[in-house]
Amino acid sequence: MPLPRGLPVVDHHCHLSPTGEGVAAVRRFRSAGGTHLFLTTQNYEPTVPRSLEDYVRQYETTERLAKQIMDETGVEVYSVIAPYPVDLIGAGEALGLPVALELHRAALDLAGTWVREHRAVALGEVGRAHFPVPAEVAESIDEAFRHAFEVARDVGCPLVVHSADLDSNGFRELSERAREVGLPPERVVKHFARSRLPPGERSGIVPSYLARRELVRQVQDDPGPWFFETDFLDDPARPGAVLDLATVPRRALAVSSEPGGADRLFVPFVESIEKVYGWRPEVRDVGGS
Ligand SMILES: [Zn+2]
Repeated sequence: MPLPRGLPVVDHHCHLSPTGEGVAAVRRFRSAGGTHLFLTTQNYEPTVPRSLEDYVRQYETTERLAKQIMDETGVEVYSVIAPYPVDLIGAGEALGLPVALELHRAALDLAGTWVREHRAVALGEVGRAHFPVPAEVAESIDEAFRHAFEVARDVGCPLVVHSADLDSNGFRELSERAREVGLPPERVVKHFARSRLPPGERSGIVPSYLARRELVRQVQDDPGPWFFETDFLDDPARPGAVLDLATVPRRALAVSSEPGGADRLFVPFVESIEKVYGWRPEVRDVGGS
């Protein structure tokens, strides 16, 4: 059974690079049935940003890619922007940790301004280093993480968190952190979720599940909110490091061919987006290929 007409097919987290496959990868996504992408920024240059101008350039690259994709493929793209937490390591070495932290906070504030101006829809990805770092660096990263919650609260937007895979305790901790600063946990997305947690164990945090076949099977009946993602990296040097960009529409097709499957897809592709972001993605009927 084909995907239902009018159903958005959404990859909630991917990266694309002007020096990678870029638009060609999105054409593959579209041919497989994909309609909407949440495009998360990344460092596009060999060194980490060391000034606010560097971050402006980075966010503008993401925005330009998003526009190019929409113009050339008709796929709707939402930008998600923030300084990478681990930027603090390289920037700290170059500038000294206090200056690097100041820069990081300014880059988060800038991302918040962009969301206010509707140039981006969420802050991400933010979080902690998922490898060991010196204690004072870890402290700065944690302080930056806290500021990310504050900016999301002030702007009133979702916060997309990168972390190790979390169990129910990890979700509760994240939820408490959000509450502490006054951000509703329902606006916090745990991206790159690799194991299923039932709704009652998520403390309000929203998982964005990696669209591996087995995981899709486990979560497809969950009442939500939750998302599917590939975390596609668009890095020719690391093929297969994560899932291909065509994965979410392929899995969606498999789910929709089961009895009641098409209805279930409204949970990650429509209802969850409405709950977390506050609007419903619409399918435009446009040309492009
Ligand atoms: Zn990512």
